[in-house]
Amino acid sequence: KDFSDLTVRYNVPQALVDTVTQCGYSEPTPVQRQAMACMLEDRQIVACAPTGSGKTAAFIVPLLHTLGTHQGGPRALILCPTRELAHQIYREALRLSASTQLRVTVVKNLKESKVKEREATFRKSDIVISTPNRLCYLLNQDQVNISLEKVRWLIIDEADKLFEGSSEQESDFRQQLEQIMCRCGPKRLIAMFSATHTPPVARWSRRHLRGLVNVTV
Ligand code: AMP
Repeated sequence: KDFSDLTVRYNVPQALVDTVTQCGYSEPTPVQRQAMACMLEDRQIVACAPTGSGKTAAFIVPLLHTLGTHQGGPRALILCPTRELAHQIYREALRLSASTQLRVTVVKNLKESKVKEREATFRKSDIVISTPNRLCYLLNQDQVNISLEKVRWLIIDEADKLFEGSSEQESDFRQQLEQIMCRCGPKRLIAMFSATHTPPVARWSRRHLRGLVNVTV
């Protein structure tokens, strides 16, 4: 029932489970139970769960375990609609990664730094969090040489929000997402999280996520 199940089934280190417990999470929420199991089995998902149901930890914990030791990359990319949300995810990732050596970066922080520093920070990060807009801006800047080739997991948070908006905004987002996906390695896996299962999210995920598992709570 509690998070130590993850240790028994998926070999998640005790230290990581202890950190989760220290964060005040004694039992996994329904979306955590289902989404964590899928991601730890390398299965692509669309998880539909209301705001406040613990979605952030549902993808952060499997990432922390799957990425293991600090190697940079980045090897996981988290996309979300706003910078505020990116920061919220960042704070949660920092708390949950306390027992690991993994480095987490939010792209907002990269804006002010110099080009070379920015590249280095990016390369040394295991997990990068960004809005699609900000990341594409960075990818398209002159003289910036950053690679997404090592990305194993691409997380799309609040997918319903990213796919909504005026048709112009939505097509911008689709183009950005395509650009980002093209730059990721061929073995990359996608997990989408959404408060509602909207038709655009359903259509897009059916087209792009092979072997997709739908998680609804
Ligand atoms: P989220 O849906 O990720 O925005 O999380 C909503 C709130 O629930 C956050 O304040 C989390 O810290 C908290 N939370 C996440 N997982 C759990 C859990 N398993 N038990 C209790 N609280 C949790």
